[in-house]
Amino acid sequence: MGSAKIYYDSDADLAVLDGKTIVFLGFGNQGAAQAQNLRDTGFPNERIIIANRPDSYAEDAKSKGFNVEHDFAKAAEVADVVFLLIPDQVQPRVFNETFAPRLKDNAAICVASGYNVFFKLLKFKPSQDVVMVAPRMIGSSVRSLYQKGKGFPCFVSAEQDGTGNALKVALALSRGIGATKLGAIASSVYEETAMDLMAEQALWPNIIMLFREAFSVLKEAGCSDEALCYEMWMSKEPAEIFEAAADEGFVTQLKHHSTVSQYGQLSGALKLDGTAAREHFKNILYNQILNGKFTKEFSQIENDLEKEGLDNPLNQLYQKAEEMELAQAEKRVRSRLADLLKQ
Ligand code: NDP
Repeated sequence: MGSAKIYYDSDADLAVLDGKTIVFLGFGNQGAAQAQNLRDTGFPNERIIIANRPDSYAEDAKSKGFNVEHDFAKAAEVADVVFLLIPDQVQPRVFNETFAPRLKDNAAICVASGYNVFFKLLKFKPSQDVVMVAPRMIGSSVRSLYQKGKGFPCFVSAEQDGTGNALKVALALSRGIGATKLGAIASSVYEETAMDLMAEQALWPNIIMLFREAFSVLKEAGCSDEALCYEMWMSKEPAEIFEAAADEGFVTQLKHHSTVSQYGQLSGALKLDGTAAREHFKNILYNQILNGKFTKEFSQIENDLEKEGLDNPLNQLYQKAEEMELAQAEKRVRSRLADLLKQ
């Protein structure tokens, strides 16, 4: 597709939100950050409602001076805009059962992730607006960058234009939470979901596999656990490489490495034939992500994720991952280090 449109503060008219009541469903990572940013941008506190069950998140919202509503039905009835900021896996049940039946016909629903909208798991009326304002940052950074007067990267889109105003609402909400300061990138739930799940289901699994196999080969070749753990990740070198890639450039950062390293990395990467990896990525994208296969598989295990111990399928995967040679070695190295530190 090429270049995306980028929206700045000057593209967004906050007046679109005048007189509206904005409900934040959830006051966690994103909810707490976005609600505080919106209020600090000048949106009146009396028109913000935090919908949350009575617990520590609700107490946190109250301590920050917000109006908290524990009864989701009441919050839904008065909402002109709902920020859907509870975990993705609980959104369909909570939204469809308690919010959707009571929301105004012309309400706007704002998601921070494309997943549930792309896979059509949320029930909207055709007359409602559905928008995405998806920060590419954890909530604490969304808040701290705003407080420093800086922006943060964010994707924005209007997915359903029930009122004819959806894009204007999306841009006003983006500006309200501080996302158009740096420039919000025009995107879509399709793009956000494809990229997010591709990273999670193809790119990072391959990186984990490459580390696992490289560790094993070097160990067979006589390298110690301690040396390998430090060389491969505990020194934080990979984190520094990615930080430099973000700051200076994916290729440019290589210049910080020794000449031997630069030559080895570039000649090695350019020699590798990516055909098999490309086919693998395409297979995951089209036959696992976009066709809904993964979503179906996940929905089948979803209810078991609350279970304790090995009845929880995620815990089963953790158990298998901990059995990897690399993980076992790291455990030994870390416990040895802990003993040394105690001395
Ligand atoms: P959190 O895990 O921080 O959400 C916690 C909030 O959700 C709390 O208010 C909690 O309140 C509420 N909640 C949890 N379970 C339920 C439930 N069953 N019923 C009602 N409320 C519930 O979520 P995030 O902020 O991490 O994610 C929110 C959205 O933002 C998601 O769509 C996510 O993909 C997106 N996003 C997240 C990012 C991040 O930094 N984590 C980055 C960018 C986007 P209580 O438990 O009291 O009910």
